[in-house]
Amino acid sequence: MATTQIHPSVDNGVKPGKDNFGGGTLTCKCTDKPVKVRVDAQTAHNHVCGCSKCWKPEGSPFSMVAVVSRDKVSVTENGDKLAVVDTSATIQRHACKACGVHMYGRIEDKNHPFYGLDFVHTELSAQDGWSAPTFAAFVSSIIESGANPANMDAVRARLTELGLPPYDCLSPPLMDAIAIHVAKAKGTLYAGAA
Ligand SMILES: [Zn+2]
Ligand SMILES: [Zn+2]
Repeated sequence: MATTQIHPSVDNGVKPGKDNFGGGTLTCKCTDKPVKVRVDAQTAHNHVCGCSKCWKPEGSPFSMVAVVSRDKVSVTENGDKLAVVDTSATIQRHACKACGVHMYGRIEDKNHPFYGLDFVHTELSAQDGWSAPTFAAFVSSIIESGANPANMDAVRARLTELGLPPYDCLSPPLMDAIAIHVAKAKGTLYAGAA
């Protein structure tokens, strides 16, 4: 049996990011007038994601998605081809209307724990050195997109082998960040918290 497929960017091993990497340009899949988005910083919290909302390359059970400060993201070419996939979603995913690729996801709710961060797929860039994925989020959700439930042990084993610990929500540090945000809003944050 072939190795369990996760995502083309990690199936041959996870490539480490480069220190002092300053960003690059994301390009959609259109051969004619592609949308280009400039990301002027290194990304953080890169991970593979099994949710059904993230854009995934053809045939891939997972997406690969990272975050970057929204003020570092700018549409530089053919922005007229972009439209929000689902305006009711928390993350407004701006996708190319012609090829369907999501160019960036933005949170407009100022009270959201991740407000100020955009979600980007760095595999859309020709540059090398983006932060490497470090975990797998929403792993069980690949079943919602048609993955065989009987293969989940193999999927989780492969993720672990790749150094991408599998979680069925976000990673513990991100779940903690969300809970800290909620506790601050409620005034219940532990008094000695850093
Ligand atoms: Zn396109
Ligand atoms: Zn996702």
